Amino acid sequence: MDSIKIFSPSSVANLSCGFDILGLCLETICDEMIIKKSNTPGLRISKIEGEELPMSIEKNVAGVAAKSYLDMYPTDIGIEIEINKKIKSGSGIGSSAASAVGAVFGINELLERKLKKIDLISHAINGEKIASGEAHADNIAPALFGGLSLIRDVKTLDIIRLPVPSELTVTIIHPKLVINTSHAREALSKQVPLKNMIKQTANIAGLISGLFLEDYDLISRSLNDEIIEKDRSLLIPEYFKLKSAALESGALGCGISGSGPSVYALSRSKITAESIAAGFKSVILKTGLDFDIYISKINLDGVKKI
Ligand code: ADP
Repeated sequence: MDSIKIFSPSSVANLSCGFDILGLCLETICDEMIIKKSNTPGLRISKIEGEELPMSIEKNVAGVAAKSYLDMYPTDIGIEIEINKKIKSGSGIGSSAASAVGAVFGINELLERKLKKIDLISHAINGEKIASGEAHADNIAPALFGGLSLIRDVKTLDIIRLPVPSELTVTIIHPKLVINTSHAREALSKQVPLKNMIKQTANIAGLISGLFLEDYDLISRSLNDEIIEKDRSLLIPEYFKLKSAALESGALGCGISGSGPSVYALSRSKITAESIAAGFKSVILKTGLDFDIYISKINLDGVKKI
């Protein structure tokens, strides 16, 4: 095998009350990557389509993740990475995580090393670090494993795969403005009032229980963010109107995807997901911003070879 093609998926991190600890994998939008053996020794990013991104190994998350993997599992074989970027960087749906995961997974497949996905994750996280400034797995874990992931502790890679109730459907709107993840983190208050912390932990416990019980009403009651939304919503034009439109259209819940500007809503059917999309559209059209809207089931497989 001299070359393989990878589908690396987008993801929604945080899910309202699960700031930095929850993420789900999307089906609709995936980066395509080709990982090839080369006669020239070493690692290179040879082509990037779809977006202007750094080609240098040290500045591209795919390069940093791949290098981290190859430092631990060296090879004499030269490796080239081609990225066809379909997930816009800075959109808030895990663009950088998809590249990091795709690179590590792809090289592992190409070299037929047969390492398990859990053994790949730390290298993908090393790549993601250069995009967000800190080690995060809330986009990496869902992009790698698929489904819904809980990151109980990123340092020890204590990551739990959660059940995915079968009806869950996601609607995403990406208003086209760029929010830099590290700037979005700086916008957050450093102090959390005790009463908000209590509500947030009650909601996260409710959400996890709702997923296990397949109790959509409990999921809906729990999809609230008492801590982050207030600060981050300031960066997204008409955020609260988008949220009201989603809830009025039957969403179980609606919130900021990752650090934004994308906004996600969960619902129980494609029909509801489509009326949420129409609600989002009616609000965003008034802002004059360009936008993309996606509807997706939850991707249960994560990154894969095609
Ligand atoms: P998202 O949440 O959509 O992944 P981030 O803000 O986390 O967005 O990441 C985007 C940042 O990472 C941009 O500054 C971009 O230039 C940088 N970056 C480096 N390599 C890549 C890559 N292969 N794919 C996407 N973004 C990358």
